[in-house]
Amino acid sequence: MGTASPGTQRVDVAVIGAGIVGLATALQLLERRPDLRLVVLEREAKVAAHQSGHNSGVVHAGLYYAPGSQKALLCREGKGLLERYCQAHGIPIAWPGKLVVALDETELPRLAALKERGLANRVDGLEEVGPERMREIEPHVRGIRALWSPRTGITDFTLVTRAYADDVCARGGEIELSRPVTAIERRPDALVLKTPGGPVEARSVIACAGLWADRVAALTGERTRESPSIVPFRGDYYTLSPEAAALVSGLVYPVPDPRFPFLGVHLTRRIDGQVWAGPNAVLAFRRTGYRRRDISLRDLAEALANPGFRSLARRFWRTGGAEMWRDWSKGAFVREVQRFLPELRGDQVTFGPSGVRAQALGRDGTLVDDFDLAGGDRVLHVRNAPSPAATSSLAIGERLAADAIDRFGL
Ligand SMILES: Cc1cc2nc3c(=O)[nH]c(=O)nc-3n(C[C@H](O)[C@H](O)[C@H](O)COP(=O)(O)OP(=O)(O)OC[C@H]3O[C@@H](n4cnc5c(N)ncnc54)[C@H](O)[C@@H]3O)c2cc1C
Repeated sequence: MGTASPGTQRVDVAVIGAGIVGLATALQLLERRPDLRLVVLEREAKVAAHQSGHNSGVVHAGLYYAPGSQKALLCREGKGLLERYCQAHGIPIAWPGKLVVALDETELPRLAALKERGLANRVDGLEEVGPERMREIEPHVRGIRALWSPRTGITDFTLVTRAYADDVCARGGEIELSRPVTAIERRPDALVLKTPGGPVEARSVIACAGLWADRVAALTGERTRESPSIVPFRGDYYTLSPEAAALVSGLVYPVPDPRFPFLGVHLTRRIDGQVWAGPNAVLAFRRTGYRRRDISLRDLAEALANPGFRSLARRFWRTGGAEMWRDWSKGAFVREVQRFLPELRGDQVTFGPSGVRAQALGRDGTLVDDFDLAGGDRVLHVRNAPSPAATSSLAIGERLAADAIDRFGL
């Protein structure tokens, strides 16, 4: 792994972004085409600097996603590939299981709909459980019925991303850190990527830029008025004290609100034994808005000028406002968790950490639900890769690698 190198670099493929998706794609390409000249260009000084290093660490089993969607297919495939990869590389992965809890009668129809989805997606071992079995699985959790997904797992996606990076380098790929792509020039036979460390001439490009996916698409000249834009949604967590962590065995989720692509504040046991509550979902005023006070005038002005964003804000100002209130008020956040973990006390949780999600937004104000992997002229774009893209990374990489080989004649 290096930083800047002088002169023009010539490669067959340049991958933009050293997150889990970019590196999985580079790895899958090099497995299929070992002789490719491939470089991964990353704006930050380390891999997994953004979403891939700031997430819940849950290996999703595929419960939530519309049957037949890219998310449903690639999550299922990706989970199997990830499990084998972790085992082969000595990366910790565990299966504490997930309980999705209905708190009262009004949530039962949504729980039933979720079960239907889970069954259609062939989620391993999925079962509906009543209060007695719930108490066996999570003795301190309150609720009237639940879905139990015993093969939902946990890992550390930062470690996974670093392992992909090592593998990419071992297979002859280069990873250039602190090299943001700032402009792209199209030539008849190549694209020239401008970076502070010098230009890179690439026969083809795969853009896996996460929070900057729309801006990188604009650099390639392939962002139209209809293309989605990225809205950054911060997710804050609270870390439970060891005493409170002992109240939770695995992963405990509420029944999600189907209007949103987020899963609701949940409890996640981490692979290092910590338990986190969160993440919530509040609009971030900056793409790197990890703290509440982080504001970028450019990011904010761009959002406000976007008709899709204005439409979203009009429809969801009430829910968004309540979520922001819960974000600022520890008491409100804790009360949200106490709905299903009543023994939790406010003095048992500490604020942090936080992550920022890259969520694609359509021009009509709809949040793009599915993965969006789009092909252009010598460029492949990952336009929307929210959760479960870390779980699905090797399957997304496989899909993009096959597509790139096919389209670009690699
Ligand atoms: C709070 C939170 C919780 C989540 N929980 C889970 C979970 O439990 N399970 C799960 O499967 N998924 C989860 N996810 C989703 C998962 O983390 C993401 O889907 C995944 O990490 C996306 O990977 P990526 O490589 O596309 O993006 P990123 O990791 O964001 O990587 C994109 C990279 O592109 C780089 N880049 C951008 N522009 C440029 C440029 N111009 N030049 C060079 N480099 C550039 C960025 O610096 C960045 O490193 C969660 C996400 C968040 C935020």
